[in-house]
Amino acid sequence: MKTEQTSKELIPRDTTRLTHLKVNNPRGFASFSPPVFRASTVLFRNMDALRQAHMDEEESWSYGLHSTPTQYELAQKLAQIEGGKQGLLLPSGLAAISLVQFSLLRSGDELLLADHVYGPNREHAQWLMRDFGITTRFYNPLSVNDLAQLITPKTKLIWIEAPGSITMEIPDIPAITALAKERGVLTVLDNTWSGGLLCRPFDLGVDIAIQALTKYQSGGSDVIMGSVVTADKALHQRLSSTRRTMGWGVSSDDCYLVLRNLPSMAVRIAAHGERSTTLAKWLKRRHEIVRVLHPALPDCPGHLHWQRDFSGVSGLFSVVLHKRYRQAQVDAFIEDLQLFGIGYSWGGSQSLVMHYDVMETRSATTWPPTDWPNADTVGSLVRFYCGLEDARDLIADIKESMTRHLV
Ligand SMILES: *Cc1c(COP(=O)(O)O)cnc(C)c1O
Repeated sequence: MKTEQTSKELIPRDTTRLTHLKVNNPRGFASFSPPVFRASTVLFRNMDALRQAHMDEEESWSYGLHSTPTQYELAQKLAQIEGGKQGLLLPSGLAAISLVQFSLLRSGDELLLADHVYGPNREHAQWLMRDFGITTRFYNPLSVNDLAQLITPKTKLIWIEAPGSITMEIPDIPAITALAKERGVLTVLDNTWSGGLLCRPFDLGVDIAIQALTKYQSGGSDVIMGSVVTADKALHQRLSSTRRTMGWGVSSDDCYLVLRNLPSMAVRIAAHGERSTTLAKWLKRRHEIVRVLHPALPDCPGHLHWQRDFSGVSGLFSVVLHKRYRQAQVDAFIEDLQLFGIGYSWGGSQSLVMHYDVMETRSATTWPPTDWPNADTVGSLVRFYCGLEDARDLIADIKESMTRHLV
């Protein structure tokens, strides 16, 4: 049974699993670290071998852009971690989003995006895909009824994100995938927040899971990469052939950096999650804050879905400040934090902070939600990413800056 804290039971199991991911060493050599194979040209034994190479099979080596053993190894491990069967690597998380949309949507089709999705995904769909004749509609991530009303015979793809990038709502994933299956629509989950570890997308009926490996898999704030994982061979082939045609490859050296950090991912996520939960509980008691949006706390919209479908929490969450603070005060609060960097992305060792204008990225739902009892006190939204610093130091830092600027 899960408590409000990160689930203790799952941590050793995932840690052990990731630590013992098999390394494919060359014959007669053994080490813990995977070999790095770099190539543009891949040599063929003879003309027959060249003619028989399957350009569309990653393991039938044909060209360095399509795959190398290092890239293949990472893709397979990511599929294994997320509970899927096949994985594809992309040059960024956003490229993974783009690959899915370009592979599965054609002129005249409709895409349903959750209203709280990652901002650049919204822009990709709304601007780029629109110019290719694809219509995007936004649904309330917390209303399966709302979603059901928007599905038409032209709907080809439903996009889920859990929790939402900035406002952290956790949708009812199994209810959405059940509805999609009934209506013959594919579903994709942006599973980045969980690192692919805390949520098992294919057990919940999802068809495609994407990750920004830039975050927890990299863990070092120094690699940009994305993945697309499936559990269905035919679907994988559709995605893989678009990837090949578009010429989207990754560097084997970057793959090595990610492979190197995978064994510590479960331990890191548990540590980030412990810190974020400690901070969230402390912030909840502060008068400067009107709402804490952290999946493990009951105030987070969709908290019960998190409790049912997730095995723990990670390091990212948001808070809503009281509206009495002017933007200049909020900026000063953020800028005076000593341990939280100001910048995009997350997943590394250092804590980060960011301010967001929620209404700028919303069209199907209102902000603040009308059912919040204290909606009239809602001010700025600030998102925290908890790195690996001691939670007591993070709290002291926030307290100091709050006392100085949020008066
Ligand atoms: C960061 C992020 C992405 C994009 O990843 P990049 O590698 O920065 O392109 C996509 N989805 C979510 C939820 C993210 O947090």
